[in-house]
Amino acid sequence: MNFLTREQAIYIDKNFVTPVYVYSEDKLDEAIDSFLSFPSAFWHDVRFAMKANSNINILKKFKNRWLKIDCSSEYEAFRALNAWFDATDIQISWQETPRELAKLLDLGVFIVASSLDQIKAIWELKNGVKIWVRINPGMWSGAFKAISTWWETSAFGIWHEFIPEIKELVQLYNLDLTKIHIHIGSENTPESWTNSANIWLDFVRQFPSVTTLDMWGWFKMAIMPYEKTADLQAIWISVAEKFQDFYNQTSRKIHLEVEPGKYMVINSCSVVANVDSVVNTWVDWYKFIRTNTWMTEMPRVTMYWVQQPITIINDSTEKDEYVVVGHCCESGDILTTKLYDQEILEPVSLNTPSVWDVIVFDGTWAYNSSMSMKNYNSFPEAWEVLIKKSWEIVEIRKREKPEDVWRNEIEVI
Ligand SMILES: *Cc1c(COP(=O)(O)O)cnc(C)c1O
Repeated sequence: MNFLTREQAIYIDKNFVTPVYVYSEDKLDEAIDSFLSFPSAFWHDVRFAMKANSNINILKKFKNRWLKIDCSSEYEAFRALNAWFDATDIQISWQETPRELAKLLDLGVFIVASSLDQIKAIWELKNGVKIWVRINPGMWSGAFKAISTWWETSAFGIWHEFIPEIKELVQLYNLDLTKIHIHIGSENTPESWTNSANIWLDFVRQFPSVTTLDMWGWFKMAIMPYEKTADLQAIWISVAEKFQDFYNQTSRKIHLEVEPGKYMVINSCSVVANVDSVVNTWVDWYKFIRTNTWMTEMPRVTMYWVQQPITIINDSTEKDEYVVVGHCCESGDILTTKLYDQEILEPVSLNTPSVWDVIVFDGTWAYNSSMSMKNYNSFPEAWEVLIKKSWEIVEIRKREKPEDVWRNEIEVI
């Protein structure tokens, strides 16, 4: 298992109602340390993309370590304010226009405009505010289109060929454009990042008022044994050289910002659950392990067609190949499918299970509790606990009671 010991997993199973998200404070600190210490030419800021996980304790941990925050909606911004972030440390890159945009601007929250219309909307509401823009650089690298945020098939950001239009707006409204923001795809190498940095610094070159380049991609963090973690140190060393070259040519020291979500923290959480039953189809075709969790707690696999490490805790000396499924009455509630192809089942080798055995899923930190399909089949939202530095295990979110699930319903019939 990733960080849980067998004893901890069994303790959690005995003292909580599973499924339970278990976070490790040590792992979080390790991840933050590595981000704060990576090389950059003229210092860098780390901005945590809170959509990956938004529990107040996680946010406060980042706040206490001086990270800033990236929000994808106004509601995330209000949540970050509630977790004590200063408004000026919050940025929103919006897909849906905030209803309370004026209030957020008054508070000092920064907005990353990702369309020409948004630039106008911000200017009309608050003349003189700093403007940040997100550009879609139209570059392809990554696993597949569904997770791409930077290609012509993606609606994120202002398409790079509209830079002249951005310039026009900057002149027309006398805008203070200080940051360019680019978010691209995964599977990146140091070479692809140096090339990217060059192209993006050329965007910066066209806007003399820009002081910060915010660049991030979906870097690979190994969760499965066959995956390889992207070497961020190597990537940032080569990017820092490009920032230095840019300085030599222009005397502009461009500040770097990075916006990790998944990469930084995905391995800081595991889900502890139980084996519910084992069933077969036909004579001995597929053996299914049914668990008391899955899409209600861990939608990431279903959304991104990836795989998740699984451990069954028992003393069995025998292993067999199993398909692991969840507890929802839904055909997609299945875990062991082929990478990037949910049509094909891919059984995995696991200890022969018994009913109620503890089953642990590693690498569950990001895009799970914050993205969960909780309450489907009326399952209550799961417990979240944190293993503190002292090894104490504390609750950070209570499990919902059954009646919480229907608390907002209004009976009229
Ligand atoms: C989601 C998001 C991120 C983080 O992406 P990860 O793949 O989780 O690292 C960073 N920046 C923005 C603007 C995002 O929307």
